[in-house]
Amino acid sequence: MKTNGYILHHLGEDELPFNAVSPPIFQTSIFSFRSFEDFHEAICREDEHYIYTRGNNPTVKLLEDKIAALEHAEASKLVSSGVAAISAAVMSFLKSGDHVVCVNDSYSWTKKLFTDYLSRFGVEHTFVEGVNPEDFANAVKSNTKLFYLESPTTFTFKLQDIEKIAVIAKKYGVKTIIDNTWATPIFLKPIELGVDIVVHSASKYLGGNSDLVAGVISGKKEDIKHIFNTEFLQLGYVPDPFMAWLILRGLRTLHIRMKTHFENALYIAEYLEEHPKVESVLYPFLKSYLQYNLAVRQMKGGSGLFFFFFKTHSLEKIKQFTNSLTLFKRAVSWGGYESLVFPEAVKYTDNEQKEDISLIRIHVGLEEKEALKEDLDKALSLI
Ligand code: PLP
Repeated sequence: MKTNGYILHHLGEDELPFNAVSPPIFQTSIFSFRSFEDFHEAICREDEHYIYTRGNNPTVKLLEDKIAALEHAEASKLVSSGVAAISAAVMSFLKSGDHVVCVNDSYSWTKKLFTDYLSRFGVEHTFVEGVNPEDFANAVKSNTKLFYLESPTTFTFKLQDIEKIAVIAKKYGVKTIIDNTWATPIFLKPIELGVDIVVHSASKYLGGNSDLVAGVISGKKEDIKHIFNTEFLQLGYVPDPFMAWLILRGLRTLHIRMKTHFENALYIAEYLEEHPKVESVLYPFLKSYLQYNLAVRQMKGGSGLFFFFFKTHSLEKIKQFTNSLTLFKRAVSWGGYESLVFPEAVKYTDNEQKEDISLIRIHVGLEEKEALKEDLDKALSLI
């Protein structure tokens, strides 16, 4: 049975000690054994046993089983951050001389992994726009080992046709990894579309409360075992049991939160699209969105994060807008219960005139949507 309710409430929780409703936190670094023989068995197959929390831990495992069930994956591995999930998954399938095809506007640290880090070890990359699946086929070389997807892409919000790209990958014998942080497994299950590995920043919606940093990797048992035995144990991307417990708590409300994020975000995106001071809005579920048909076909809904462009390029006006908001907090990241604003201009010094200075990222939280609209309306009226 793979309903959200079963996964979130019961899966792995049938026999909790003392009939507790909330699972215990196994805050222990080591596990002991009754005998030499048991110890030997565990040491020989660390991926299947609890020996040391740098490898496995029961609180972490409970969460991993639930996430795997949500993703329709065979297994999952929790790691210390979203960036750790990306790095571990990518690096475990590459060696010097290999080539990767990656979407152009992937998350900044993903791009840097290819441009600044893996290039030092002789791994080549090609960035493609990815809107046309053939972009991937055209970039394949004899040493291509991996396609890296993120749908929608960071900042530009371009979607990839995941099913078609997975078919191309299979044709060339190439592994596929996708960052599914934006849509979450509630709205998109990439493994059902043929992708091999799904990575998440669990710091966003899976945790959902802006109180932790974590990442998760899901896929086939043999791939997760390979990642565990290579990058995970070697580089020490250890998740902490308490952090896993916080995500277990966050997961219980994931399907409800995502529904509200979607409803609120669409309401705010439609409002902004009609506003005379707004040039354009990038939200895949707006009917005017260039890839709306693909969005509806591929995903069951959208999350709370999107972008819009002001008509003005005045830094002063953008500052005033940002400072006038009261419900939208000025902060990085996203995926928590709260609404956030992150103007692109905050990255620049005052005298820099960049083209994308009018780009504003907002995260629409779980507050009343009318109150969020009012907050934006007031701030927009002042500029
Ligand atoms: N993937 C996406 C799409 C992100 O926006 C982020 C942002 O932080 C990450 C991955 C990295 O996750 P973390 O901050 O948990 O390392």
